[in-house]
Amino acid sequence: MDSEARPDGSDLRARAVEVMARIERAARRVGRDPAAVKLVAVSKTHPAALVREAAESAGLREFGENRVQEAEGKIAELRDVPELRWHLIGHLQPNKARKAVRLFDLIHTVDSASLVERLERICVEEGRERLEVLAQVDLAGEATKSGATEAELPALFELFGRSSRVRCKGLMTLPPFFEEVERVRPFFRRLRELRDEWEARGAFGGEAGELSMGMSHDYEAAIEEGATLVRVGTAVFGERGAAR
Ligand SMILES: *Cc1c(COP(=O)(O)O)cnc(C)c1O
Repeated sequence: MDSEARPDGSDLRARAVEVMARIERAARRVGRDPAAVKLVAVSKTHPAALVREAAESAGLREFGENRVQEAEGKIAELRDVPELRWHLIGHLQPNKARKAVRLFDLIHTVDSASLVERLERICVEEGRERLEVLAQVDLAGEATKSGATEAELPALFELFGRSSRVRCKGLMTLPPFFEEVERVRPFFRRLRELRDEWEARGAFGGEAGELSMGMSHDYEAAIEEGATLVRVGTAVFGERGAAR
């Protein structure tokens, strides 16, 4: 095993500091308040011990997981770490919805009316007064990806409007991967336009809507285009995969 692929606490801290500095610079470049951009550190595949390290050595508090099952164990192990917030950033299977309601602070991947209905019903059953979610939008019409198409958004927002516990706070997208960041930028712009349109209609409870977009290789461009939540894994934790 390659020890360099396994960051210890100091590596992790240095990487997190670097990402936070880049976030700040990207925001300032376009005249935005850096405090309006939150770093969601994507901890999928990494063990709870590393998340603890990220919280304790780098002060990170927001973590993203893409699988409910995997998150469940980590969240339980880290219950003693104060003020952690957990984000579900992966597709939510209907049969995992109840666990997701119990575990997560923000679900980024709500993309169908039936899922909204199910979450609302589960919130009632579980006694959860308020569940914050984002609507995931599939801007490229990629059949393999989850996300509501633009054409499906009106029906989705109609249902959010009728839900009392499930609250839509904004939009999320996972654009197609391009090595060249400038090719991703139009997707970030489009998501922002959609956010502005729906915000103007009061879709986010009369508040400004969140924009969850940008990953390790393109979060700076996403911030320039208005991201309020960037989901960064590799740049904080190092490469996922073989080494662990
Ligand atoms: C894994 C993942 C990320 C983070 O990816 P990195 O390239 O490691 O930063 C962001 N968003 C989603 C939806 C993911 O699944």
